[in-house]
Amino acid sequence: MTTRIVVVGAALFDGDYDDGGDGRGGRLLAARRSAPPELAGRWELPGGKVEPGERPDAALVRELREELGVDAETVARVPGEWPLKPPYVLQVWTARLLPGSARPRPLQDHDELRWLAPADIWTVDWLDQDVPAVRETLALLDAG
Ligand code: C5P
Repeated sequence: MTTRIVVVGAALFDGDYDDGGDGRGGRLLAARRSAPPELAGRWELPGGKVEPGERPDAALVRELREELGVDAETVARVPGEWPLKPPYVLQVWTARLLPGSARPRPLQDHDELRWLAPADIWTVDWLDQDVPAVRETLALLDAG
């Protein structure tokens, strides 16, 4: 039997999400992968693998510090789980920057970051497996 390994992704927002179309709503951070070659150029929710014995939400805070240089906190788990290449599965949390955090910058794995307003969410080429995760995140926020 293969052990299942959780990859955590962050739906990191810079304010309250608002689909009102007035341009003042929060924006979602998308990160463009620079590696490995088969994923380079595609956009994802930043994150990474949970280590043995680590809580998924703690792993996400750690990954955001390592990958983006920020201090963040998770807010809520987005319902669902999406299969990646076995044995990996993707889980997503909404997250926000803590007061005083540095602004995100691409420190590893990524070569570009983009804050996406609600109207721009689908203008980037998300990784296939992140598409349902992003869709579910938006559904959660719209319902809230
Ligand atoms: O970032 P890291 O390389 O640790 O991620 C492990 C794997 O999880 C990657 O190979 C990538 O395919 C996948 N992943 C993903 N969507 C994300 C984050 C990671 O598909 N948002």
